[in-house]
Amino acid sequence: MSPVDPASPAGPVTEVPAPDPDGAVLAVDVGGTTMKGSIVDGAGRIQHSVVVPSQTETGAEPVDAVRALCRRLRDDALARGVVPAGIGVVTPGIVDETAGVVRYASNIRFRDVPLRALVEDDLDLPVGIGHDARAAGIAEAVAGAGRGLDNFLLLPLGTGIAATVVVHGAPVPGTTWSAGEVGHMPVFPGGEPCSCGQRGCLEVYASAGGLARRYARLGGTPGRDSRAIAAAVESDPLARSVWETATEALGIALATLTLTLDPARIVLGGGLAEAGAQLFDPVRETLGAALAWRDAPDLVPSAFGTTGARIGAAILARRAAGLAVPDGWGALAPVHS
Ligand SMILES: [Zn+2]
Repeated sequence: MSPVDPASPAGPVTEVPAPDPDGAVLAVDVGGTTMKGSIVDGAGRIQHSVVVPSQTETGAEPVDAVRALCRRLRDDALARGVVPAGIGVVTPGIVDETAGVVRYASNIRFRDVPLRALVEDDLDLPVGIGHDARAAGIAEAVAGAGRGLDNFLLLPLGTGIAATVVVHGAPVPGTTWSAGEVGHMPVFPGGEPCSCGQRGCLEVYASAGGLARRYARLGGTPGRDSRAIAAAVESDPLARSVWETATEALGIALATLTLTLDPARIVLGGGLAEAGAQLFDPVRETLGAALAWRDAPDLVPSAFGTTGARIGAAILARRAAGLAVPDGWGALAPVHS
């Protein structure tokens, strides 16, 4: 729930917002573990949030859980006197934004799901469908760490690693909606095996999931997540070694991306970026050392954190509804909500 949630059912009636003449929208971020939905008002503030598990215990189709959350958010909005102008839904995987179809998303078990048509039928509202990381890139471009830049690169460091290349405010989708799968960029040739079938992939070493798996495989205390490994760097030589390899892998990958794209800035997001200087300092060092004849681009944390994909979904909703998205829209949303 949002800490600035004046519309919570337990809240005083006097704080229920009036219908927003500038157009409130609904925004849904479908993840592998949870789905987060919000009512975002016309000024880009999150007014109300709902978090539900992505998988239902009954074994129902995952898409039904998404549709149920969309209907619930619409009903929540109407109960607050807010008539939403549209809805945006973002998912991981291969998302054909033109057709409004999720072609494939392994961790939510979607294959060729016509999500836009389904949600349109259910809610009778304009619907924008998007990819979660690209949506986060849109949010950073409009109101976050990429605001005002011709181009930048956003890498959310989570369970896996993806990159969103944003050029003039628009994320590059690729020919088959698959751009940015840099987690499988080989950084240590002949290195450790990846679940994708290759060896030495970036995310084997530098994703949150990869860090935890490597640490356990090399003999560390089982069950430690990336946050616990980061916290143990001073006292545990194995944690330090795993952490140093992660930052080295990331620095090498960012050097390749810098030479390919010449970005104005590189933005790191996801849970790992919350490690702050412990992550950014050694990555900057490796990146700078790898680039002999040019300067490294700025390396900065994401402005939106885990809220970015949802603010991006809200922007897609506004666009679907024909509403303007002024520069800075969404900047009032909290970083974590
Ligand atoms: Zn791989």
